Amino acid sequence: MNNFLEDQDPQVSAIINSELARQRQTLELIASENFASPAVLAASGSVFTNKYAEGYTDHRYYGGCEFADQIETLAITRARKIFRAEHVNVQPHSGSQANMAAYFALMKPGECLLGMSLAHGGHLTHGAAASFSGRLFNVQAYGVRPDTELIDYDDLMEKAERLKPKVIVAGASAYPRQFDFAKFREAADLAEAALVVDMAHFAGLVAAGLHPSPMELADIVTSTTHKTLRGPRGGLILCKSGLARAVDAQIFPGLQGGPLVHQIAAKAVAFGEALTADFMDYQQQVIQNAARLANNLTEAGFRLVSGGTSNHLLLVDLRSKNLTGAQAETALERAGITTNKNAIPFDPQPPTITSGLRLGTPAVTTRGLVESDMDLVAELIVETLRQPDDDLLSRKIRRKVETICQDHPLYPEL
Ligand code: PLP
Repeated sequence: MNNFLEDQDPQVSAIINSELARQRQTLELIASENFASPAVLAASGSVFTNKYAEGYTDHRYYGGCEFADQIETLAITRARKIFRAEHVNVQPHSGSQANMAAYFALMKPGECLLGMSLAHGGHLTHGAAASFSGRLFNVQAYGVRPDTELIDYDDLMEKAERLKPKVIVAGASAYPRQFDFAKFREAADLAEAALVVDMAHFAGLVAAGLHPSPMELADIVTSTTHKTLRGPRGGLILCKSGLARAVDAQIFPGLQGGPLVHQIAAKAVAFGEALTADFMDYQQQVIQNAARLANNLTEAGFRLVSGGTSNHLLLVDLRSKNLTGAQAETALERAGITTNKNAIPFDPQPPTITSGLRLGTPAVTTRGLVESDMDLVAELIVETLRQPDDDLLSRKIRRKVETICQDHPLYPEL
C-alpha cells in the first residue's frame, strides 16, 4: 500500500497488507460490515487525525479549527439532506456512544429503558446486562413472537403501558425484517416515553428510501456510519431541533473529548456518496442480493428466521442440519466465506455457540456481486455446510471463492 509506511515500519505494513489480501480474497458476508470507498479511506487517513477540535463549529476550545469547522459543517449539511433531519451530530466515535448520548439526553440512571432482547436480535446497548445500558438503567425487554419470529407488538404495547419506560429503543443487529415505527410511536405515547430508533443496520436503506424513515416518528435517531451506510467506522445522531442542545451536550462534554475530525471528514465523503444515484442503485442491489440468497438457501432446505428477509440480512436456523452457528462459521471461514454465528430467537444454545448464522449482502454487493453471483455463493455455502469437516472440499470451495473475488476485484486502486 503505502511505500513510506513500508519503509518506516515493515512489521505494521505487512500486517495491513495481509488484511488487504484477506479482504480481497474472501467473500465478506458479515451483515454489519462493508467496504468504504478509497475516497473515504483517504479522508480517514488524512492530516485531520492531528487536530484537536473540542466543542462544536464556531464554539471550539482550541485554535486552528477553521478547516475542522468547515469539514464538520459539510458533514452535517450532507447528513441533514440525506435523512431530512432538523439537527445532526456527527461526532460520536461509535454507534454505542451515539446510543449512550441519546439515552443520557432523555433519562437518568435508574430509569426504565425498554429495548429489544439481545437474544432476539437486539444490540448490546439496548439493555444487555453486560453493557453500560444494562448496568445503568432499569432495563426491560420486548422480543419476537415464537410463531412468526416477527416483533411482538402486542407484547411491546403491554410492556409500554405497564412498565412506563422513560425510553423505548427500536432497532436491532439481527432482525431480517423492517420495523413498524408507527407501532413503536404508539407504544411510546402509551408510556409517555421517548422513542429512540437505532437504525445502525439499515441506515443505508433509509438513505435510499428503501426502508421507512424513522425521522418523523422518533425523538432521537442514532446510527453507525460503517454498515449499510458504507462510510468510516463511527456514529451519528439525528434529532428534532428541540433536543439538539441536550444531545450535543451529552456527546461533548458528556461522553467524549475531542472529536475524531479525520473520521468526520470521512463521514462527509460517505454522506456525499449516499446522495448519488449510484448509491440508490447499490442499496436496491443489496436487498435483491439478500432476497436471492434467502431463496436459494430456503430451496436447499435451510430454515430462515421469520421465513426470509426484507432487508440486507438473513438469519439461518441450523438446528435441522445438526450444526451449531460456531461450527458453521468455522467451516465457512476455512472455505473463504466470512460470516458470524448468531443466536436465533429462543436459541437452545449459549451465545458462544448459537444455532444460527447471520448473513448479509452489503459488502459483497459493494464488490459488484449481483443475483446470479448469489446463486453461486449460496451453492458454495450449502456445499460447505453439508460436509463442514471435509478439508479437501473446503480447499476446493476456497479456490472457487477466489475466482469470484478475482472477477470482482476489491480496491484495485490501492
Ligand atoms: N447499534 C446496532 C443496532 C448495532 O448493530 C451496533 C453494532 O453492531 C451498534 C449499535 C454499535 O456500534 P459500534 O460497534 O460502532 O459501537
